[in-house]
Amino acid sequence: MTQNIKIGSLQKQGAKKQPKILFVDHTAVLGGAELSLLDLVTVYGNQSEVLLFSDGALKKTLASRGIPVAIAKASSETLNLRSSGGIKAIKSLPELWWLAGQIRQKAQNFDLIHANSQKAFVTAALATLRGSPPVVWHLRDILTARHFSRLNRSIAIFLANQFATRVIVNSQATGKAFVAAGGKPELVRVVYNGFHSEPFETASLEQAQKIRTQLNIHDVPLVGLFSRLSPWKGQHILLSAIKQLPQVHIILVGDALFGEQEYVSYLKTLADEPELQGRVHWLGFRNDIPPLMKACDIIVHTSTEPEPFGRVIVEGQLAQRPVIAAAAGGALELIEPEKTGLLFPPGDYNALKIQIEKLISDRALGSFLAQQGYISAKTNFSWGTILDSFQKAIS
Ligand code: UDP
Repeated sequence: MTQNIKIGSLQKQGAKKQPKILFVDHTAVLGGAELSLLDLVTVYGNQSEVLLFSDGALKKTLASRGIPVAIAKASSETLNLRSSGGIKAIKSLPELWWLAGQIRQKAQNFDLIHANSQKAFVTAALATLRGSPPVVWHLRDILTARHFSRLNRSIAIFLANQFATRVIVNSQATGKAFVAAGGKPELVRVVYNGFHSEPFETASLEQAQKIRTQLNIHDVPLVGLFSRLSPWKGQHILLSAIKQLPQVHIILVGDALFGEQEYVSYLKTLADEPELQGRVHWLGFRNDIPPLMKACDIIVHTSTEPEPFGRVIVEGQLAQRPVIAAAAGGALELIEPEKTGLLFPPGDYNALKIQIEKLISDRALGSFLAQQGYISAKTNFSWGTILDSFQKAIS
């Protein structure tokens, strides 16, 4: 109760006054959740601060933007707690308590804690027990057994119901899963991810052509998959789909960010098969997503599990390329089938192949989807609109 009053009183001090927020995330790897965080933190600038539980690319990027960032280093056992279950979670409790103390200490001069991940939230919720300011959980994951053990989910939901002043979710799908797992519906606010369209609008066809020349890809259909390399992101689905499409080349943009080396080896073995040789281009992690997307004829999203949001889908639309996405989770909120993109059943590589073929043979359809997708992305996910709803959600 007191927590809500404190945020409310900030509002009364003047509409323009922003709360001072301590942003907390357990990882410094640049995944979608961290890229979304980066955009948010940049708005709040140096009157806020970021606390991370590990060092990495996010810290470097924040520091280069002049945003105060600190690290309370957690052990790899605690950082890797996710789908692992009971005993490991219990063993991590003393460290979580220590991290909660670090948050409390840092948060003394802040109005609000924004927890950008489940681990950050659990720790921040413990910190409220130790007297720190109210906590908002920005939930960017679908809370299912595939990604979180039952114990992890139960603890997070219990703490959310007790200690979160809000649970901001990045799609209806994420919100539904939170409620289905026992979360209180009244805590939930949907705030989609927001995007700056300029980098996509200013990426030129010349840049795109240069990329194709460097890759030695000329007059052939080019399909792009932009995602970290991970089994549930489904790069293998695309490889299987294009086996029977001998004219198609693909670029795989992204890296194994969380140590999925076994999967990378598996993908390399697949790509070495005679039908695919020379047609799979590995680009690793890249920072120049807009021109790379412009270099493609088609953007695909191939997750085999429901995607909480699916940033790459909106980015593909902003790049004015037709997008084909796996029909589950947040993707269903980003694509109106046959209008702003195409869908296929998750994991069904034959259905994906059919959708790719359809776009290759019907260029007019591709242009239509690209144009409608662009309008939808600009209308629904522009950064300004989304920032407004974020600000409302935390007030
Ligand atoms: N991305 C990137 N470089 C890469 C591959 C991906 O910057 O090499 C970005 C991509 O543009 C998107 C984000 O990583 O903004 C991935 O977000 P998404 O929601 O698609 O998946 P997540 O990583 O959150 O599971």
